[in-house]
Amino acid sequence: MGPEEQLESVRLRIGQACARAGRLPESVSLCAVSKTHGPDAVGALAAAGQRVFGESRVQEAQQKIPLCPGRLEWHFIGHLQTNKVRQAVALFSTFHAVDSARLLEALHAAADAQGVRLRAFVEVNVSGERSKFGLAPEDVPALLARGASLPRVELAGLMTIPPFDPDPEQTRPYFARLRELRDRWAGETGLALTELSMGMSTDFEVAVEEGSTWVRVGTTLFGERGKA
Ligand SMILES: *Cc1c(COP(=O)(O)O)cnc(C)c1O
Repeated sequence: MGPEEQLESVRLRIGQACARAGRLPESVSLCAVSKTHGPDAVGALAAAGQRVFGESRVQEAQQKIPLCPGRLEWHFIGHLQTNKVRQAVALFSTFHAVDSARLLEALHAAADAQGVRLRAFVEVNVSGERSKFGLAPEDVPALLARGASLPRVELAGLMTIPPFDPDPEQTRPYFARLRELRDRWAGETGLALTELSMGMSTDFEVAVEEGSTWVRVGTTLFGERGKA
């Protein structure tokens, strides 16, 4: 399949998952994860109508984005070190994996210096012991409260990466849990927290059934990483 067919197929599968869950297909956005793939691959998908692309390394993005079509929207989906924040804010509009007050404050300071406004999602380690990044659920309310006082950063929702399992039914409970936590924290904080960034190539349909509003799909769109 070429890039157009891959994109069409992923959109179709998102639409079918929405139908099963009684959701509108417009309620789910697709972030095409282009890490390790070059500007040509991005350009082909952009020509097929994809607007939002995701990267997880600042240096790679700095080299790639200037060679890609303009007017695309770039999201940073990886773990971000505070010493890369300034460069990242110059490239990306949305940050999917904010996992500390220190990072949130650095993003706000860089956005202020560059005169922009960012959108950020808090990464939650829903599974507890098994995954490495993300805040423990008990630490999230304090970060949400901090974010509410930073005008350059809109804390728009939550993100999670469940422990990898090739069987998507094994990741479903983590997605359901993130949605429950969102409902609770939205009620407690008054923040809308409308976005749930969850679901990757192996499990995006299950994530949509559980309420995802942003699926981050790489391999299913671009093919295996590290191969042509
Ligand atoms: C690489 C990556 C993805 C995409 O993974 P695929 O399995 O290739 O779809 C999604 N989210 C994050 C945070 C990633 O690092």
